[in-house]
Amino acid sequence: MSLQCPRCHSPKVASFHHAMKAGAAIGAVGGLARGISAALAGGKAGAALGVIAGPVGITLGSVSGAILGGLAGSVGGCAIGAQLGESLDRHVLAHNLCLLCGHRFNLPA
Ligand SMILES: [Zn+2]
Repeated sequence: MSLQCPRCHSPKVASFHHAMKAGAAIGAVGGLARGISAALAGGKAGAALGVIAGPVGITLGSVSGAILGGLAGSVGGCAIGAQLGESLDRHVLAHNLCLLCGHRFNLPA
C-alpha cells in the first residue's frame, strides 16, 4: 500500500491508527459486558440442561455454558469494535501526516 501526500505528492507519509485501536478497545469492553450477560444466560441454560443429569450435570453445564457465552461475546464485541474504529479512522479522523510538508489528510474514500 503506497500513500501519497495530496498536497506535495510525496510518498513519505506517516499513518496513525488511534481510532482503530480505540474502537477495538471499546468493542472489547462492550463485548465483555455482553459476554458476561451471555455467560449468565449460558450458565442458566447449562444448569437447566444439567438438572436432567443431576448435581454434577448442573455444575458442569453452568461452567461450560458460562465459558462459551463469555468467549463468544467478547470475541464478537472486539471484532465489531475494530470495524467501527476502522471506519471512523477512514472517514472521520485525519490520520496521515506528510513528513515533507506536514499536511494532515485522510485516506481517499
Ligand atoms: Zn506533503
